[in-house]
Amino acid sequence: MPNQPRAQRTASFPRSFLKSCPVAVRGEGVYLFDAEGKRYLDLAGSAAVNFIGHGVPEIAQAMAEQARALEFAHTTQFTTPVAEEFARELLEFAGFPDGAVYFTDSGSEAVETALKLARQYQVELGQPDRTQIVSRNQSYHGATLGALAVSGNRRRRELYLPMVRDSEKVSIPYCYRCAYGCKDCAAKYAAELGAVLEKSGKKVAAFIFEPISGATLGASVPPNGYLQSVAELCARHGVLTIADEVMTGFGRTGRNFAVEHWKLQPDIIVTAKGIASGYAPLGAVIASRKIVDAIANGSGAFVHGMTYNAHPVATAAGRAVLHRIRDQHLVEKAAKSPFGKKLEDLRMLRSVGDVRGMGLLWGVEFVADKPAKRPYRAEVAFAEKVAAVARGRGLLLYPMRGCVDGDAGDHLLLAPPAVITDEQIAWAASELIAAIEQVESKER
Ligand code: PMP
Repeated sequence: MPNQPRAQRTASFPRSFLKSCPVAVRGEGVYLFDAEGKRYLDLAGSAAVNFIGHGVPEIAQAMAEQARALEFAHTTQFTTPVAEEFARELLEFAGFPDGAVYFTDSGSEAVETALKLARQYQVELGQPDRTQIVSRNQSYHGATLGALAVSGNRRRRELYLPMVRDSEKVSIPYCYRCAYGCKDCAAKYAAELGAVLEKSGKKVAAFIFEPISGATLGASVPPNGYLQSVAELCARHGVLTIADEVMTGFGRTGRNFAVEHWKLQPDIIVTAKGIASGYAPLGAVIASRKIVDAIANGSGAFVHGMTYNAHPVATAAGRAVLHRIRDQHLVEKAAKSPFGKKLEDLRMLRSVGDVRGMGLLWGVEFVADKPAKRPYRAEVAFAEKVAAVARGRGLLLYPMRGCVDGDAGDHLLLAPPAVITDEQIAWAASELIAAIEQVESKER
């Protein structure tokens, strides 16, 4: 829309030239503060990133100590005590005792790494024809071209589609708008994958999935039985399972990793965000023993690598964050949080069609017509308007569009730090209701 008004230019390339953002200068607990001293309650954990709270001095201290001792060493030349110790702790935390951890700088890089790892694993096993990755519609796995190829959200992919190698997609369970009318749907969604694997299973290297869908579907929880069926199908066809826990990992859903809700042991877990709670850019690929063995006992080297793999300062941040999660029992706190129950209050609002999620990862889906579940037109940008009003009131939300068909469908993703108190939850819920009502009154 060339004639939409533009925000004032900044030297750092912004996400959007259409809106200006306040200047953040400080964080403390669940709050962020801007340069004007305005306080915001971070109900989105930025983007489901912060889990331990902002401004924890112990994390800054661990990072400073590491930077003073050794800021960086390249993984072709060295490993470091901090990366080794953190990897050991992480394997234990994930329940992958004999596996290995590949550290990256972001979720997208971790996804790229996992896709390549799956491919190389199959080649090591003498199956070079396994080149495909199956994934799901309405998923999100990252912004880089490989991760985008397996992502299923139309709006995020469209512009780049001519540049990516498209991959096979199956439907994603979406209870509020269930493709199978919630009748035996766990089996029916899994059967879609079964059909793809029957047809071209010997060409498939891996299946990648978010155990609970994050950014693009707003914390949609799959029906019981679905993930187990999918894992069995993959095992039967020699296809690796990659659980993308970039958003759901590190306690966010009330378990160390979300797959634990369904007692699932994937072949690979991909994670980022909560791993360092935003204190450093960090991601990780947690690989099970059979994958590590295949390469270690096969060709002997993973044909992949980035300069900042296992960065000492970032892994120091991650390690200190994991200790904090343990010491403060934050996973248990997320599991027992009254947050989801409080959000149920939103259902009374005219525009709130669904409230869904687990632990401290929740989605609120808006509809223009509740009985018909009709979404607002995309141009209305309902969720974005709610987030803008809430921000004015000192409440930060994560608005998203496209949950219905990649274009229409508005939702909020809510993922506060686990240190949020009951009083802060109550305040946030009432501010959120006020913000939604304000936007409703204008969008009749
Ligand atoms: N996978 C999932 C499930 C995500 O939610 C995201 C980020 N929203 C990514 C991958 C990409 O992570 P990053 O933005 O750190 O590259």
